[in-house]
Amino acid sequence: MDCIFCKIVNGEIPSKKIYEDEKVIAFMDINPSIDGHVLLVPKKHYTDYKELDDEIILHMNIIKKEIADRLMEKLKVKAITFSMNYGDSQIVKHVHLHLLPNLIIKSKPEMTVDEVYNIIKPEN
Ligand code: AMP
Ligand code: ZN
Repeated sequence: MDCIFCKIVNGEIPSKKIYEDEKVIAFMDINPSIDGHVLLVPKKHYTDYKELDDEIILHMNIIKKEIADRLMEKLKVKAITFSMNYGDSQIVKHVHLHLLPNLIIKSKPEMTVDEVYNIIKPEN
């Protein structure tokens, strides 16, 4: 299947990984709306949120808290927005959750993706 996020999951396309386990992966958005814009993606290809089963919904919610805590602590921000697009606003048809630290507080990114990645990347 010609899916850009499946290619990221299987390593065909590089990504700046923030988190990975057997069910999900999280990486830096290539064109961030705000500093620390991260995408949380199930490894299995689900086209959109309506296809998600309860198990992956629960798992994504557990992991989203871990990643949100890391983003807020490392970037020293006190706000985060979660969003999931559907329909015409969903460009990549492999479901993903946007994590957007300080989206409402700040209007645009001020750092490069690499600068942010160096702050929030996993320590090991
Ligand atoms: P959406 O409109 O919810 O489908 O958003 C898709 C998101 O994927 C956008 O924020 C893009 O910047 C992001 N994106 C697209 N290609 C890549 C990529 N290769 N690596 C990281 N993020 C990407
Ligand atoms: Zn896919």
